[in-house]
Amino acid sequence: MRLTVLGCAGSFPGPEAPCSAYLVEADGFRLLVDFGPGSMTTLQRFSGLYAVDAILLSHLHCDHMLDACSYVVARRYAPEGPYPPLPVYAPVAAPERIAAAYGGENEPMAINDVYTFYALQPGSFPIGPFHVTVDRVNHPIETYGVRIEHEGRVLAYSADTAPCEALIRLAQGADAFLCEASYLDGVDNPPDLHLTGREAAEHATKAGVGKLLLTHLVPAWGSEALTLEAASAAFDGPIEIVRPGARYDI
Ligand SMILES: [Zn+2]
Ligand SMILES: [Zn+2]
Repeated sequence: MRLTVLGCAGSFPGPEAPCSAYLVEADGFRLLVDFGPGSMTTLQRFSGLYAVDAILLSHLHCDHMLDACSYVVARRYAPEGPYPPLPVYAPVAAPERIAAAYGGENEPMAINDVYTFYALQPGSFPIGPFHVTVDRVNHPIETYGVRIEHEGRVLAYSADTAPCEALIRLAQGADAFLCEASYLDGVDNPPDLHLTGREAAEHATKAGVGKLLLTHLVPAWGSEALTLEAASAAFDGPIEIVRPGARYDI
């Protein structure tokens, strides 16, 4: 399978990157994991406006889902006619949240002409050619870490999370582990929200992953150099900080 990073800025868009959005492809099927603000730009630049067959939203913080609202226009009002409904796997409140963020006073609230929603709950299920497993992670709202398997290869994605056992289970033996590292080490961070570079690396080591891909750094408040240094001290394998347009064959 192939991973294309469309957006990776944590919490709000950065000067060089939209918020979280990752395109995972195999056998011609394209699964978009998270759809943060700005990532419709990079979707068009690195893939195509309609090059999406299903969407999975890890949680409903706006930095992970707002472009699912903008995308309603692109699909509903396409000059060649409306596109068929797209499957969206997301927390149960997604239809209401996306419709509320999209709709104005005189517009219909329903968006089921554009999306067919499937409520996430912990467990495994197929999406296209992928075997997907999700589990709740440690974040203030309903949030799912994700494990995506295809032909024996595994990509794990932390979503947003503080340290938790579920993340180690999801990432167990993954070939690539896309893990958030929002916070700097050595400062007083709020609990139960996010990981530092060192914590991301500790989860990678415990899960025995092949490669650690750090994401969701907050450019305005963080430091790539310090995050990488802290992560390198806790994981022996290859580590990279991802960027929009980066592609990984997994
Ligand atoms: Zn986030
Ligand atoms: Zn979040």
